[in-house]
Amino acid sequence: MESAVANLLSPGEEAIVASCGAFGERWGKICVAYGAKPIFVRSEWGTPTDPEAVRKALKEHPKAGAVFLTHTETSAGTVNDLKTLGSIIRETDAVCVVDAISGLAGQELRMDAWNLDCVVAGSQKGLMCPPGLAMAALTAKAWKKVESSKSPRFYWDYRTIRASVPQNETPWTPPVTLIVGLSEALRMIQEEGLENVWKRHLSLSRAAQAGLKALGLKLFSTAPCSVLTSAYAPDGIKGEELVKRMRVELGVSIAGGQEQLKGKIVRLAHMGYMDFSDLVIGLSALERMLGLMGYRVPEPGRAGKEAQAALVS
Ligand SMILES: *Cc1c(COP(=O)(O)O)cnc(C)c1O
Repeated sequence: MESAVANLLSPGEEAIVASCGAFGERWGKICVAYGAKPIFVRSEWGTPTDPEAVRKALKEHPKAGAVFLTHTETSAGTVNDLKTLGSIIRETDAVCVVDAISGLAGQELRMDAWNLDCVVAGSQKGLMCPPGLAMAALTAKAWKKVESSKSPRFYWDYRTIRASVPQNETPWTPPVTLIVGLSEALRMIQEEGLENVWKRHLSLSRAAQAGLKALGLKLFSTAPCSVLTSAYAPDGIKGEELVKRMRVELGVSIAGGQEQLKGKIVRLAHMGYMDFSDLVIGLSALERMLGLMGYRVPEPGRAGKEAQAALVS
């Protein structure tokens, strides 16, 4: 994410930052660190970015050099309508920059067809590898911005990195073990077929939604993404305690809320190599811990059943 800002913007330049959660906010913080001027288009956490609000911001700030977007906002479990956003940004001089760190290989993403100019991702989410590798893809429109940017950069300089590609090299010592791991992960994805991978994630997200609802929980996001499902912690149950006790007492890791959502929501990840068995274990551990904490599940055992039914249909 930092490399995208360092290469695409210049100090003093305006940029639209569409934020619907903690990762959208991060785009803004990086812009400030590089002396750029973020103009926030915020929606409530859990609600996706409104494309019309982005259109309006671009009209009001015609000099904005970039629009920063999030594919799947993992802090809230929300997917953004990148196709519509891309078609709006395309009509302007701004480049469309997407954080697809958790969404890549988990949810439909079509860089060329949707007019996305720079997409960044990491090795540790849908790509199933340990953390440590980052990737960025750029269109010709984005490369023009890279060439005109006046931001200081060295390690992150896309121009230096691009120059070593024809030699099949990287400018600096690469994390070879991670690259070998990534190539195996990509082989697995290719074998299954990318569209089938998207479908599998979508199916898991439907199962997670059905399971959480059967536990009597209210889903948090109005546009749930495929890679992670979020729900409000029930009244009287402290989300942080729930997450911690599940990990310590039942050996199952789910996530709580970040920043303003701390203690208020729980998040079940189902990306990458996570499969239906993991999801069922997660739901049943959640049911057990909710019970231990004094919450009455509407119908014990129903979550697994509902998840199964949602998955099959
Ligand atoms: C995980 C993630 C990142 C990377 O954040 P870390 O703090 O390095 O874990 C960025 N954006 C999104 C949407 C993510 O899910």
